[in-house]
Amino acid sequence: MRAAVFHDREDVRVEEIARDDVGADEVRIDLRAAGICGSDLHEYAAGPIFVPDETPHPVTGETAPIPMGHEFAGVVSEVGSEVETLTEGDPVAVNPVIWDGTCRYCDEGKYHLCVNGGFVGLSGGGGGFAEETVVPAVSAVPLPDGVPVEHGALVEPFTVGVHAVRRANVRAGDSVAVFGSGPIGQAVIQASWAAGAGEIYVSEPQEARAEMAVDSGADVVVDPTESDPVERITSESDGGVDATFEVAGIETTVNQSINAAKRNGQVTIVSIFEDEVSVHPNDVVLGERRISGTLAYQGGPLSNVSFGRTIRMMETGRLDPELLVTSRIDLDDIVEEGFERLLGGSEEVKILVEP
Ligand SMILES: [Zn+2]
Repeated sequence: MRAAVFHDREDVRVEEIARDDVGADEVRIDLRAAGICGSDLHEYAAGPIFVPDETPHPVTGETAPIPMGHEFAGVVSEVGSEVETLTEGDPVAVNPVIWDGTCRYCDEGKYHLCVNGGFVGLSGGGGGFAEETVVPAVSAVPLPDGVPVEHGALVEPFTVGVHAVRRANVRAGDSVAVFGSGPIGQAVIQASWAAGAGEIYVSEPQEARAEMAVDSGADVVVDPTESDPVERITSESDGGVDATFEVAGIETTVNQSINAAKRNGQVTIVSIFEDEVSVHPNDVVLGERRISGTLAYQGGPLSNVSFGRTIRMMETGRLDPELLVTSRIDLDDIVEEGFERLLGGSEEVKILVEP
């Protein structure tokens, strides 16, 4: 079967690889769609970062070359002998969290914080840019009739947004500011809207993304290359919003997300950073602001909880995954039409790869 395999930096090949066997508690999935994520681009352009290259991943035991793709969905095509929750033909979205089941965080049910954790498609354990893959049955979350299977590929990034908004305790009527509106930023905007945010401010320089942010639920979009988003937000929100989200991964937006929050406000860092950034702690201390990080979403045996929540929100129209999809491409074209286009500064937001 064919898969897009990470060999090394700028060396991803669509090639024939061996099929995995299906274990007793696993399922085989005939893949229908997979989204390209910012972390895939980091691996391609600057990796290996998450991908294990010399030391095998402690859970999967794998090193590169490994198949890529961690935002994916498909149809169950084979079921392990002990699996009772799924049957052949079920459409599913796959929660890619990898966990060891033995550390203190797994004991506490925080599988995404597992000390030996990882993600399918980055750490081994199969991948979504392929014709098929094999995953633990508990990681495959059923999709209802109202959610098309290809939208199942967007459950992963939307669950990042929903998890971030839940961690920030956004409540009905709260004001929110989102710094950066790529795919995860858009998911945070939609999840804030669904949570009942009173006003949503977004800082985004790229025009197409700014327009999409409005469709996602933003009330005010500021172009930070034209005016100071902190000044605009604090003047319109009586000194700052209840909750801010940093979703761009650079020093400027970290500082903006702190200073656009009201005193006692909540700052949530969603991005993964390439570099250290500088922050003045007084900006946090003098306003008694709170800063939290947020990583992915609940996974492993609790995949149904986190992914199920997002899927219901898609089914009832609270979240609109189609809005983010700007292109659909063939697996064979993933490097040229996918990675290279996204890295080349195109106006793409989410590209779906369909095998
Ligand atoms: Zn663990």
